[in-house]
Amino acid sequence: MTVKWRTNPDEQMLRDTVKRIGNDFGPSYFLAKARKHEHTAELWQTAADAGLVGVNLPEEHGGGGMGITELAVVAEEFAASGSPLMMIVVSSAICGSVIARFGDAEQRTAWLPAMSAGESIFAFAITEPDAGSNSHALSTHARRDGDGWVLRGQKYYITGVDVADRILVVARTGTDEDGHGQLSLFVVDTDAPGLRKEPIPVALTLPERQYTLYFDDVRLDDDRLIGEAGDGLRQVFTGLNPERILGAALANGVSRYALDRAAEYANQREVWGVPIGSHQGLAHPLAEAFVQVELARQMTSVAAREYDEGENAAMASNVAKLAAADAAMLSVDRAMQAHGGNGFAEEYGIAEFWSLARFLKTAPVSREMVLNFVAERGLGLPRSY
Ligand SMILES: Cc1cc2nc3c(=O)[nH]c(=O)nc-3n(C[C@H](O)[C@H](O)[C@H](O)COP(=O)(O)OP(=O)(O)OC[C@H]3O[C@@H](n4cnc5c(N)ncnc54)[C@H](O)[C@@H]3O)c2cc1C
Repeated sequence: MTVKWRTNPDEQMLRDTVKRIGNDFGPSYFLAKARKHEHTAELWQTAADAGLVGVNLPEEHGGGGMGITELAVVAEEFAASGSPLMMIVVSSAICGSVIARFGDAEQRTAWLPAMSAGESIFAFAITEPDAGSNSHALSTHARRDGDGWVLRGQKYYITGVDVADRILVVARTGTDEDGHGQLSLFVVDTDAPGLRKEPIPVALTLPERQYTLYFDDVRLDDDRLIGEAGDGLRQVFTGLNPERILGAALANGVSRYALDRAAEYANQREVWGVPIGSHQGLAHPLAEAFVQVELARQMTSVAAREYDEGENAAMASNVAKLAAADAAMLSVDRAMQAHGGNGFAEEYGIAEFWSLARFLKTAPVSREMVLNFVAERGLGLPRSY
């Protein structure tokens, strides 16, 4: 059960559709894939066939013509059914939003229908070893070469490159008078000559692998540049707010999954002749987590609505992401505690979601960078870095 605020019949129908598909596959399907780091291809295709993967993409390009609000519902409900799909965040939310808004007619026609149909998945590459959270310091650069570009540099922790056919890459194409990078966005094929991909072993139970990417003079035609050269920072923020909102939605779904499992277990398990859920020492921590999750869901919805209405959704997106990630950590931790020793058993499918909940505290934007933003923009405090 969740709080039923603002749910209209269309949203409820969407939630029910996702829930039905999610439950058909179930957490055991997802976890079996995640343990082997294998793509959830069957679930992805079923979701795409039902119009869910491209629900936010324009109708004329095969999408659902809806917004980030609906995509967040899709991500949350899949996660709540035990299948948190990271590539919905990366491909549909970030790359789909950017291409739909800044791609020209040919680029939109070339890439969005395949993305909506589930035939094409995009990865997104901004993070670099030497720049980290400081996007102004990116050193991957693209230089003009005849009528195209040559891309050189390195990215790391890039999710899902093995399942993607293309990567939206943020690169420097110039420097402004303050020394900040002028950024541009390029679409690079994952099998482009000059691109080397090295998996990074990470302790996360997720289907998606992470990669270090080496761009060694990757040649790109001019039609691989999205929008205007040098306008990449503005464009990328079109993708980063959806990324935060979708990260929050994913966290909210994981929270609901964990609390549902915990409530089920706490109603059944008897140790002193009554269900363990009748002990307030166990019930209240779960109830407190429930409250935090509902607050996070509310803020996620506000952020999605602001974004869809064309407002600057940065504050709401950041607040939602931090609140949702914290609530997910709390929910999974308390769900594990409610399960006692079984909280660690693969059979109960709880502990393995801890790594995802914990990951959402660090990425797509770290807790500290969110708090920097809130301190500066929300409270008017001096910039600390
Ligand atoms: C599993 C996984 C998947 C990822 N997928 C992608 C992807 O698909 N594409 C992509 O581009 N990136 C991806 N990332 C990268 C992710 O977005 C970054 O790891 C994250 O933004 C933090 O950057 P960093 O690792 O460079 O940390 P750093 O910037 O080195 O920061 C290290 C620590 O210092 C803190 N810190 C840094 N600056 C400040 C400051 N000014 N004030 C206070 N604290 C500060 C940070 O919050 C963090 O806690 C992924 C990461 C992981 C782990």
